[in-house]
Amino acid sequence: MTAFSDLSHDLVDRIFTYVRDFGTLAALIRTSKTIYEVFEARPKSIVRAVAENVIGNCDALPAATRLVRFQLTLNKYTVEYEGDDADDTDNQRPKDPGPTEEDALRAPLTRAEANLLEWHGPVVQELEDIFSWRNKDRASPKSTLTLAESSRFCSAMYRFWLYCEVHGPPEYWEDDEPQDFSQECANFFKAYMVDDIFDIARAADFIADLVAWCDGALGDPALATPPKDWFRCKSSIGPSTVLGDFKKISASQPENAEEGFFWRAYESHMRTLKLGPKVCKERLAKAILTEVVGQHDTCFRCHAVQGINLYGATTWPLLRGQLCQTKLFALMPGNLVRNVSENQQFLLSTHWGVFIGSQFDYTKMMDEIMDILDDQEHIWQKDKWYCFQCVEQLMKERLWRWWRERKVQEGKPVLPNCWYGWNCRTMTHRQQHASRLNHLCKPMRGDGPTQPQPASGPTAHTLVLLPAPATDTAGA
Ligand SMILES: [Zn+2]
Ligand SMILES: [Zn+2]
Repeated sequence: MTAFSDLSHDLVDRIFTYVRDFGTLAALIRTSKTIYEVFEARPKSIVRAVAENVIGNCDALPAATRLVRFQLTLNKYTVEYEGDDADDTDNQRPKDPGPTEEDALRAPLTRAEANLLEWHGPVVQELEDIFSWRNKDRASPKSTLTLAESSRFCSAMYRFWLYCEVHGPPEYWEDDEPQDFSQECANFFKAYMVDDIFDIARAADFIADLVAWCDGALGDPALATPPKDWFRCKSSIGPSTVLGDFKKISASQPENAEEGFFWRAYESHMRTLKLGPKVCKERLAKAILTEVVGQHDTCFRCHAVQGINLYGATTWPLLRGQLCQTKLFALMPGNLVRNVSENQQFLLSTHWGVFIGSQFDYTKMMDEIMDILDDQEHIWQKDKWYCFQCVEQLMKERLWRWWRERKVQEGKPVLPNCWYGWNCRTMTHRQQHASRLNHLCKPMRGDGPTQPQPASGPTAHTLVLLPAPATDTAGA
């Protein structure tokens, strides 16, 4: 068997380029004198090769290195000023991103920088997966970006991250401080080519899109949906925090917010380049990606062209951002929406709430809803794709049945049906009545039913297995 010591230096050097992380590199160097000598002879190129493996994309290394260098400068600065007056700290914080990407790459990596690169790599990779899933190929939760697209995405994301670090709003504003830094911030873009700037803006837009998704997924019915600009200014919390929120389904709050964060500076720079809003909008929409899979795909039910926005087997987890549990319950038929005890049971069962939100499985719920057999036309199929409006229609038709079945599975008592079913008005103001009878059923008496409309044609199902309706004069 050939020992490491017998291998040529070139071969050992080649082996180094396959090392996945800096811990393994440190261990490998200690294994033999030959290996140590090869490393000593070419430390810079070997460390660079490992750094490229760590971040998973060699073209993004300059942007990634510039980010970690600035972050460590910022850390050093914060430590030096620790204990000083907080206002003062904010005022003297470095506001320049430092050396260019080329210069950042030329200087050797320190251990601290390498550690930070190792921490950032998986964050940007996970963001790429989600970006690809939401913008390129809905059928795959893992990235299907081409090598070139991936390089553009990763570089853009590291650059936007750097922007957040350099120009994120300070914790405290000075009273006499102008709060519009767009001109100062616009200088940030001077280091980049115009195509790169559109890529950075698309990465920024994607981060704002994730912030908006989390807000929708949490779905606090007491709060109105904020405008798009609010999500954009909140994205100053940075890509890593936003990814954490997306995975946990939570909403981190920035220490301070700046109106028009990033976008005002970007627009100001675009004006200096004499690029009008229409051209900017078109180029932004096409940034990073050269091809979108199934761009012209249609909804199986209504045939509307919805492309990447279609929902199906692989994208049900994303539905929550548009249709959280509180919005789902609002799709119950008749007066059920105003049945407080039913609503509370539903939200509890589907784990609605900030801390336990992520535990509810949308894919499982949609599978079970698709399995409900009341569809002779075969409009609803697990392997087909649907637009959001049609998914809402499906929920109007079937959610109440799914919920009735789930209550049985959870061991809740099977109650006798109220004659007035989901049209009962008493359940909306008499708690005792609401919890004594089942209202997840079609009305047998009373006002004209406000039934959910079937997908097409007559309703094919009959609920033959329900217990006999209870006599309750309180209805309607
Ligand atoms: Zn549709
Ligand atoms: Zn009733």
